[in-house]
Amino acid sequence: MRKTLLMGIAMTVTPLCGIAGGLEIYCVNSLYEDIAGIWRTTGIAISATKASTRTLAHEIGHACGLKDIYDQCIANGVLVSEERVGSRNWSGGTGTGYYPPTLEHYKLLSRLLMYARGDEAPIDIPLGNAMGNDRNKGVTAPLEVRNVGLDGMSTRTPVSY
Ligand SMILES: [Zn+2]
Repeated sequence: MRKTLLMGIAMTVTPLCGIAGGLEIYCVNSLYEDIAGIWRTTGIAISATKASTRTLAHEIGHACGLKDIYDQCIANGVLVSEERVGSRNWSGGTGTGYYPPTLEHYKLLSRLLMYARGDEAPIDIPLGNAMGNDRNKGVTAPLEVRNVGLDGMSTRTPVSY
């Protein structure tokens, strides 16, 4: 048994996977502010009343080094492009991409696993990263490259520690 701090709550837990590595996942009745899930280096907590399988996948994405992506600074009418999603996601150049050229960029972001306001819509894990916003930098922050794709993973074997 060890004492740990998960989301500000001191807990005594018996790690089941700490011996051989692995990711600790806590299924709880609810989380603060009615959120669906949260990742910390000590593990993942998933709300029994709010979380979906997408929530679990999203939090595991964080454990693999991926970041949230937001769309608060992206105007309607801004179309997806190689400049904003990278050539690896665009699959080889203008007009040859996975995403239709008429897709608006904010709609593309809403399809990504690491889109933080996602719902049960189809989920994409892009090959590369994409341009989007960091919620913590405010509503006027410029777009920046966000680690949301396979290239942005720091590990593919997430662990709690
Ligand atoms: Zn997140």
